[in-house]
Amino acid sequence: MIRQAVIVAGGLGSRFGDRTKLMPKGFIEIDGVPMVERSVQKLIAAGIEEIIIGTGHCSEYYDELAEKYHIIKTVRNDNYMNTSSMGTLEVCVPYIKGDFLLLESDLVYDSVGLKVLQNEQRPNVILASGKSNSHDEVYLAADDDGVLYEVSKNKEIIPNPSGELVGITRISKSCLDKMMAYYKSDKSLIKLDYESALKQVSISGEPVFVHKVEYYAWTEIDDESMLDRALNQIYPRIKENEELQNIRREVLLNPGPATTTDSVKYAQVQSDICPRELEFGGLMEWCAEKLTSFAASTDEYTTVMFGCSGTGADEAMVCSVVPEDGRLLVIDNGSYGNRLAKIAKVHKLNFDVFESSTYEPIDLKALEKVLSSKKYTHLAAVYHETTTGLLNPIGEICTMAHSFGMTTIVDAVSAYCGIPMDLKTLGIDFMASTSNKNIQGMAGVGFVICNKKALEATKDIPIRNYYLNLWDQYQYFQKTKQTRFTPPVQTFYALRQAIIETEVETVEKRAERYTACWNILVDTVKKLGLKMLVKEENQSHLITAILEPDVPDYSFEGLHDFAKEYAFTIYPGKLGNINTFRIANIGDIQPEEMQCFCGKLTEYMKSIGL
Ligand code: PLP
Ligand code: MG
Ligand code: MG
Repeated sequence: MIRQAVIVAGGLGSRFGDRTKLMPKGFIEIDGVPMVERSVQKLIAAGIEEIIIGTGHCSEYYDELAEKYHIIKTVRNDNYMNTSSMGTLEVCVPYIKGDFLLLESDLVYDSVGLKVLQNEQRPNVILASGKSNSHDEVYLAADDDGVLYEVSKNKEIIPNPSGELVGITRISKSCLDKMMAYYKSDKSLIKLDYESALKQVSISGEPVFVHKVEYYAWTEIDDESMLDRALNQIYPRIKENEELQNIRREVLLNPGPATTTDSVKYAQVQSDICPRELEFGGLMEWCAEKLTSFAASTDEYTTVMFGCSGTGADEAMVCSVVPEDGRLLVIDNGSYGNRLAKIAKVHKLNFDVFESSTYEPIDLKALEKVLSSKKYTHLAAVYHETTTGLLNPIGEICTMAHSFGMTTIVDAVSAYCGIPMDLKTLGIDFMASTSNKNIQGMAGVGFVICNKKALEATKDIPIRNYYLNLWDQYQYFQKTKQTRFTPPVQTFYALRQAIIETEVETVEKRAERYTACWNILVDTVKKLGLKMLVKEENQSHLITAILEPDVPDYSFEGLHDFAKEYAFTIYPGKLGNINTFRIANIGDIQPEEMQCFCGKLTEYMKSIGL
């Protein structure tokens, strides 16, 4: 899998005249989106994690784009007036780490082309199409083995082309080095384009292959007539192809599994692979490191993953870290705290429960009193009680536990990646979460982010659960890059995509988006005169428990079924004697969608006479 892309975007776009005097060509809009931005989105969906854009003419446009997409890095070719695509590629070289995709900036294309190159086994491959009739064709000539030996716009030089250059190419580092060596070998090559350099490398012994996709939907846009053709012929075809893959969007307002993007859904469709292959081990290792990085430093913390749900991760944590002579205190102020205590009981740990209100903040003074007894070696708590939306002051709780020399165990299943956090600052030693909540992936991977020293300290604790042991799973993975037992393969592919998308959005911005959705919900709840179970200042902004209205015509099923017709899924409450329904606002949900749901909620409440 290729992780880096380079877009050469230094050019003047002079064939457009006035339109591109003050703007790079890539920013011409197709269907409301600049073509280079759409290209960036497609690259992200194809698994690219870093995009280097070589800029020149009106470079500030690209710098602004890089602020929106954090995976973009711009590098300016100050000599763009006197050079061509090789000059722009040259300034990008210091940032290119290995194999990469090289793209032109003025392309409108079907994303299947990226998949073709990602799936290629050969290191250097030019994507080619059949006849485009664009009147600006760059013809490619390849031998019987598909190796490129000529590139030209002149049909007389290549009377029987093997294909036409699309402008998307897969290039290895060694090929790049050779292209650069050739470029620098002679001053007269100052205006060399990259395709000529590729040909030179190919005929000098490092083969560059031509991969032709006969009816490929693509065009470059060099002038008004090409733009016209893109808008009227090519783009509608691309849209149609891509829409064929669309599935109905359901907005999940339940507290996870959360709504996912289409790119995360499609990421699951991959060639079958044995998860014991090195390649898959690399993918899992990458996922683990990134998961750690969203909440902690990878020097001090590590992530241990299992094929399981969030509860599995909770169980792994609770049953693996408390030694036989240890004693655990579990804070129970909701269903999930209660669950931690149940797990402790099943594993016959020495433990006590600190009970607290399910909707009012924990009394920290009372907790301190219990901890100061020095009876406990470990403390377990829930970061965000999904039962009610109550956010616990986890930093204060864990710092206090640390001050008494205790090890801290936190269920952050519904907080991780929805709230910016640093485990060290918060005083958290072990933290459990899952792939299907705020990281916005599919269900199936449960994981525990562990302080390495605290994890190391568990190595002599007798194993209480064969499958869910943290130390065993960690050690085996360190040695083999494999999980001990079959991992959920396709869920890992989706998780990789979800991680990329989390990096692009950033946890901070994600939390802001979630809060924007929550604000819309809370406004509506107040307008309707409904009451929330937890005071606003104690809420997580991730899920809201709303008291059911005391109206005879109200029923949860009625509201659920009404919302479901409009593709919104809501969730019942979970507290014994208090009747609530819950609206979560995590996952790939936009404020406009929450607005739309609130309209439906209002409609339903009016219909029952509220
Ligand atoms: N802990 C918390 C705080 C949760 O919110 C949940 C699920 O909503 C879980 C644990 C359990 O996760 P799972 O249902 O994946 O086992
Ligand atoms: Mg052209
Ligand atoms: Mg062009």
